[in-house]
Amino acid sequence: MSIERREIAVVGGGLAGTATALGFAAKGFDTVLIAPSAPPDARSSAILGRSYAFLSEIGVFEALQDKMAPLAVMRLVDDTGRLFHAPTVEFNASEIGLSAFGYNILNADLLEALKARCAVEPNLEVREAKATGYEPGEAKAIVTLDDGSRYAVDLVVAADGRRSPMREAAGIRTRQWRYPQSAIVFNFSHAVDHRAVSTEFHTRTGPFTQVPLPGRRSSLVWVEDPKLAELYVELRPEKLSETVAEKLHWILGAVEVEEPIQRFPLGGASVDRLTADRLVLVGEAGHAFPPIGAQGLNLGLRDGEAIVRLASESRDDPGRRVTLLRYEAARKADVNSRTLGVDLLNRSLLAGMLPTQFARSLGLTAMAEVPLLRQFAMREGLSPGAGITGVPRSLRKWIGGDRA
Ligand SMILES: Cc1cc2nc3c(=O)[nH]c(=O)nc-3n(C[C@H](O)[C@H](O)[C@H](O)COP(=O)(O)OP(=O)(O)OC[C@H]3O[C@@H](n4cnc5c(N)ncnc54)[C@H](O)[C@@H]3O)c2cc1C
Repeated sequence: MSIERREIAVVGGGLAGTATALGFAAKGFDTVLIAPSAPPDARSSAILGRSYAFLSEIGVFEALQDKMAPLAVMRLVDDTGRLFHAPTVEFNASEIGLSAFGYNILNADLLEALKARCAVEPNLEVREAKATGYEPGEAKAIVTLDDGSRYAVDLVVAADGRRSPMREAAGIRTRQWRYPQSAIVFNFSHAVDHRAVSTEFHTRTGPFTQVPLPGRRSSLVWVEDPKLAELYVELRPEKLSETVAEKLHWILGAVEVEEPIQRFPLGGASVDRLTADRLVLVGEAGHAFPPIGAQGLNLGLRDGEAIVRLASESRDDPGRRVTLLRYEAARKADVNSRTLGVDLLNRSLLAGMLPTQFARSLGLTAMAEVPLLRQFAMREGLSPGAGITGVPRSLRKWIGGDRA
């Protein structure tokens, strides 16, 4: 079979891969997106900061206006019932001059809007197939599909999820681990208005997080002991709705749980490097951690935005080594700090040890009491490095952020 030529091959049609492929095509790169059909996804994602800007540039939000709910306040509530009890911390977007941190949207709606853009993007071909091979060469890499077709490309973007066959084919060493937790995920309607507030209850088994959807609807990510999770998903719908209302301490009044109810085992993954010859990792192919603080997809979209930007600065050969080195340098700190931060926060909830509980409670107390610290965390949560630029100049030298 003959070999087709393209500049970019994006492997994986999840949210990160599809958005990245559109980003490349919008910059004029001749791109192929290799995307086998995926099972339906009932989750939602809070799209924040720079990743919101990236998707806006692609133009997907025009079709989504009535499907997105603004996130104006993010509230953390200590519901561990432990000796060292942390105060409730409220992050309000208005404190850093924003009307909202971002927008929450169902993954299925976002993917549909991305696919609709793919259909009208002249520089993008979508292949509903699986990639089975990657062979790097001096000037091109060859990607083979399961129907036998082959593409010679300047750059392969592996956005093929946490098991990433492309990462494996490239020989990138990966450390994977499991948490003793499962996430139960579904949407629900409620009697009381959410007022654009998301509340994350920190429980002994993990976070229990409500995130607003349009109208009197929210999505829920409920991290639980796997055995209990198994029992909860088997409850009668009325009983499950009542349990959810109780666990929310009735802040949204009576609730009605909607089908489908999904369950995800929780794990993490961290890679030795984000690049190989003529290949970069994007999204969960390069990092995975539990759903805390709406960080996962946002990190993946920032990967996509970065590789599109860096490749555009190396237009004649987007896969050249120096571009890959720049990508590695640009993304490593963001990826490592989020992976470590989420892992520590999650483990601190599970830890029964008093010193760990004390440290966690101290950190959250400081966050509740010190506006500057809270504002730093909010800016940093939206975009890496943005926290430090929001700190007054006179204070930056004390925390090493002002090199001028
Ligand atoms: C319960 C839960 C809640 C979450 N909530 C949030 C949130 O609120 N905000 C947030 O930012 N993040 C959230 N996340 C994280 C977020 O969902 C993920 O980071 C994101 O969906 C990963 O997208 P991805 O495109 O990298 O990977 P995936 O969605 O896994 O996509 C990978 C794609 O690659 C394809 N693929 C696999 N192998 C091949 C192959 N050989 N050839 C071609 N294609 C292939 C697969 O079919 C799949 O479509 C949550 C995660 C969980 C588990």
